[in-house]
Amino acid sequence: LVQARNVHKSYGDNNVLKGIDLDVNPGEVVVILGPSGSGKSTFLRCINHLEEMDRGYILVQGEQIGYQLRGERLHRLSARAIARQRRGIGMVFQQFNLYPHMTVLQNITEAPIGIHKQSRQEAERYAHELLARVGLSDKADAYPRHLSGGQQQRVAIARALAIKPALMLFDEPTSALDPELVGEVLATMRDLAAQGLTMIVVTHEIGFAREAADRVVFMDRGYVVEQGAPEDVLVDPRHPRTRAFLSRFI
Ligand code: ATP
Ligand code: MG
Repeated sequence: LVQARNVHKSYGDNNVLKGIDLDVNPGEVVVILGPSGSGKSTFLRCINHLEEMDRGYILVQGEQIGYQLRGERLHRLSARAIARQRRGIGMVFQQFNLYPHMTVLQNITEAPIGIHKQSRQEAERYAHELLARVGLSDKADAYPRHLSGGQQQRVAIARALAIKPALMLFDEPTSALDPELVGEVLATMRDLAAQGLTMIVVTHEIGFAREAADRVVFMDRGYVVEQGAPEDVLVDPRHPRTRAFLSRFI
């Protein structure tokens, strides 16, 4: 579903990504771990073209993000075409960024109605289904300020799912939450993983990686240093830097 090849990205002379290769199969849950500043967020942002890479390419569902091959030449896609590609990819950030003046239901149906031109009835029907999936059936008419951080983040997940993305990206979705609220968001993500959603998750929650990941990828200083099954990478890491990183969590 995702093929990233030799992805490079610099900010000025700060080389943040130095040739990232990553494949993600349909239904796979990939957890990316790594120290602060290793380029995890930058890589996620390249996948849905919030950031433009300098070199390399990323295919999602066979389409190159940001570009189109016409004849022999690569053409940069229009802003409109990029927006269309991005709609196949859901993203959940550390900050939930719900619209404060909209109810939960309105937050979730805004994109399907406004951008995807779904009927209100169909969008609301699906929104209720999603709210049930994230365990918030009774909150459809609540405003974000009346919800806990964990509930808000679950609404943000439902909102991202409302566009029926083929791929979900999560960037430290629990880092801004009070510790007692982390579990409910991870439980929701575990359910989604079990339902076969393709997910790339950046997190420091090693427990989630152990239980929900099909593969763990360890990034450091702009490289993928090591990757493999969680029982290998987390329990018996080969690379000294992976070992050093994981030792902080034990
Ligand atoms: P963290 O665990 O702290 O979230 P990360 O692995 O997600 O770290 P990135 O956010 O990808 O790391 O940042 C990698 C490097 O790129 C850092 O040195 C950061 O300062 C730099 N960087 C990120 N975004 C920008 C930007 N928009 N402009 C300039 N430099 C940036
Ligand atoms: Mg980050």
